[in-house]
Amino acid sequence: MINGTYDSEDLVREIERLCTAQPHLETVLRAFGPLVLEKSQWLSDTALDTQILPIDPLRYTEGIPLNRQHQLFHADDPWGSAGWATAKAIAQGFPQFSGDMEALLLRFTEGKYDCFSLFFVDEKEANKQLADKATEFGISPVSLHLFLRVLNTFMLTKKARDMKTELAAHVWNKGYCPVCGGFPHLAILGDNGQRHLQCADCGHTWPFARLTCPYCLHEDPQNTTVFFVDGQQEDSAFTCDKCRRYLLTANRSASLSPPPADLIAMSLIHLDLILQEKGYSPMTECLWNSFNVAED
Ligand SMILES: [Zn+2]
Ligand SMILES: [Zn+2]
Repeated sequence: MINGTYDSEDLVREIERLCTAQPHLETVLRAFGPLVLEKSQWLSDTALDTQILPIDPLRYTEGIPLNRQHQLFHADDPWGSAGWATAKAIAQGFPQFSGDMEALLLRFTEGKYDCFSLFFVDEKEANKQLADKATEFGISPVSLHLFLRVLNTFMLTKKARDMKTELAAHVWNKGYCPVCGGFPHLAILGDNGQRHLQCADCGHTWPFARLTCPYCLHEDPQNTTVFFVDGQQEDSAFTCDKCRRYLLTANRSASLSPPPADLIAMSLIHLDLILQEKGYSPMTECLWNSFNVAED
């Protein structure tokens, strides 16, 4: 597993270490660090699913991820604790949303809120339904959207964790995630040069050919350049000149337990900025890598 076994105290120490070592990261770490901490704590407090979803080997080999083979989310998943942890993390990292998160937490306490049902909206009506729900709760649609986006990653991460052993028995050779179909936000190179991709949404990691673009499967090494900042060659980005996407890449010895990949990805945010200024797009947008470079 690429994520080490960091407990909450280790994570707090790692966030503080990064803030001191790279002061330019402080703003992003103060905002998103609570999400990393709360997610980690919630996962360690949450039991594994007792029901394992069967994987259809043929469909899996064809590249059909688990979320298109099964309904991943169920009403009896631990939505209450996930919602609570999500609201708490957002309130800590984003004080401007803390009032709205408190309003949501109050509804949980009163038992009037069902997170699960909010994931099953009609796609065409999603914006209107979100706005209606936000009005009903007395909060802004932006707050509710952020809450659901983060809550989705918490629950997906649990699903990926719970299916890890089953997934390890099957081969997956696509550039998108075998659990949720999302694209990676980070690649980690191990001791032997093997590249592991990490899904931005569920945190699942899987091995992938080092010179192939995960986004468009372009295989010409001539067009896949590795970009790095002078003096920091252990951290780089894979770039593809065919699809103009990039993937942050960290060199981390497997013998050392690396911090959670979200923290590694946040610590490379300077590369996100440089590459987006050069006209590349990330393979997937996560909460902290979306800049509107044109407006800078
Ligand atoms: Zn995923
Ligand atoms: Zn590509």
